[in-house]
Amino acid sequence: MLHESHRLIRDASVREEITVPVEEIWDTDIEFVQGEVAGLDVDARAVELADGETIGYDLVVVCLGSRTAFFGIDGLENHALTLKSLDDAMAINEAVAAAGEEASEDDPAGVIVGEAGLTGIQTAGEIAAYRTERDFPMDVTLVEQANEIFLGHDHEFQGSIRNELDDHDVEIRTGTVIGEVDDGTIHTEDGEEIDYDVLVWAGGVAGQNALDSANSNKEYNRVSPARP
Ligand SMILES: Cc1cc2nc3c(=O)[nH]c(=O)nc-3n(C[C@H](O)[C@H](O)[C@H](O)COP(=O)(O)OP(=O)(O)OC[C@H]3O[C@@H](n4cnc5c(N)ncnc54)[C@H](O)[C@@H]3O)c2cc1C
Repeated sequence: MLHESHRLIRDASVREEITVPVEEIWDTDIEFVQGEVAGLDVDARAVELADGETIGYDLVVVCLGSRTAFFGIDGLENHALTLKSLDDAMAINEAVAAAGEEASEDDPAGVIVGEAGLTGIQTAGEIAAYRTERDFPMDVTLVEQANEIFLGHDHEFQGSIRNELDDHDVEIRTGTVIGEVDDGTIHTEDGEEIDYDVLVWAGGVAGQNALDSANSNKEYNRVSPARP
């Protein structure tokens, strides 16, 4: 239910609705092993778990999801919040609430969301709605390096998203490339400085560390399908 996680940014009670216990959905014919995959040995056909156990296989399907990619942008990983779990969503909720409570009409809080793919758009939307509900003096800005939001998708749909964000008073800054981040300031590649109180990075996807040593076709740990 990861694709629902952004809803927690506005309303923590959603957690119950979007969490499904494994035993409620599990088919008893299938063995479920709760464990962390630490490595994949495709030559030995074995999945290695963090507790040292090894599970052999004839066919493996890698469905480990993704982690956030930071593309080597200086300071980004250290200063940005990300959204890949319910706990991440709660951390954004808490950071936005803390910034909003400290802000005033004369000195509004600045929340920056980079970039404007699905996750970024939904995150900016939830933060803007939360701001309205809590009446926070807060500027919400969506920063995108491309010249359009929801890159590569239908223009009419892009326009509808843009209109919704405008209606919720989200500033959209396309063509803005984040070059470096330090505590409280984004430095763009054009030399501009944008101050922030909360920065959420929703811009990149990489495969999991568990695949670091897997001897398989992969780029940024994203595995290409291979025939057994
Ligand atoms: C905020 C947000 C909004 C989104 N909105 C949409 C949307 O509207 N529409 C859409 O199509 N997509 C959306 N997405 C993307 C969508 O959620 C993902 O594409 C989808 O969840 C990917 O499914 P998956 O099963 O590959 O990985 P995941 O859903 O990430 O599942 C991976 C599973 O692997 C487990 N795992 C990870 N590492 C290990 C390990 N080492 N060992 C064992 N288990 C591990 C994780 O705990 C998790 O249960 C959104 C994503 C986010 C973050």
